[in-house]
Amino acid sequence: TDFGYARVRLDEKQDRVNEVFRSVAKRYDLMNDLMSGGLHRAWKSALISTLRPSRTRPLRLLDVAGGTGDVAFRALEAGGPDTHVTVLDINEAMLAVGRERAGAGRGDRIDFVAGNAESLPLPDGAFDAYTIAFGIRNVPRIEAALAEAHRVLAVGGRFLCLEFSHVDVPGLDRIYEAYSFRVIPRLGEWVAGDKESYQYLVESIRRFPRPGAFARMIEEAGFARVTHKPLSGGICAIHSGWKI
Ligand code: SAM
Repeated sequence: TDFGYARVRLDEKQDRVNEVFRSVAKRYDLMNDLMSGGLHRAWKSALISTLRPSRTRPLRLLDVAGGTGDVAFRALEAGGPDTHVTVLDINEAMLAVGRERAGAGRGDRIDFVAGNAESLPLPDGAFDAYTIAFGIRNVPRIEAALAEAHRVLAVGGRFLCLEFSHVDVPGLDRIYEAYSFRVIPRLGEWVAGDKESYQYLVESIRRFPRPGAFARMIEEAGFARVTHKPLSGGICAIHSGWKI
């Protein structure tokens, strides 16, 4: 059936994504800095400022597609002693880098869990906040991931998604296109020896829904007060929603 065919293609997409991140895991953090000119740090800081973890009250944060732990470490730094982060990722190679970065010292404030955003191995209502940074674009069934985000959040919990978006500033759009299609794949080849993975990256950004359409998907998953704000002229956006 058509449905069966579509499922095979989605599974293939996930296999492809897993291969990309398995092969870049060790150089992932370096590549991020190179490709974004360090900007990914500012975007992640913007995500944490939006989350605004309390320094006094407990926070149970789930960071999905958390990879090497970048968002998690920032949240732990910004939050208080009762901030706990669960980093979930489908890729063991990425998690291994994260665990190594966490090292000792962070005690029991962070844990790393292997799992799929589309079917989280976690109980209902267990988290106060759900973040996903540069992750949802890689998940084949976005609706399934959003439904799972809603399920694992407690009532009053917040969903925050940082993702590449659509540049809508005249002039910047052309520079961005040129950068994406000429520079990124070459950088990928040069640093990670892997041009195709980075071509995939650029394609996946182009195919991702526009900010308004993505906001509607978040609403359809059951979230309320859904908003989005562009960062750096729309190169990225932060989408926010609440479970009420
Ligand atoms: N959040 C990190 C950051 O901002 O640096 C990592 C982002 S990285 C671009 C995307 C991550 O999504 C990879 O670590 C990949 O393994 C993970 N991923 C892809 N598909 C996934 C899925 N279905 N469920 C969970 N994680 C997934």
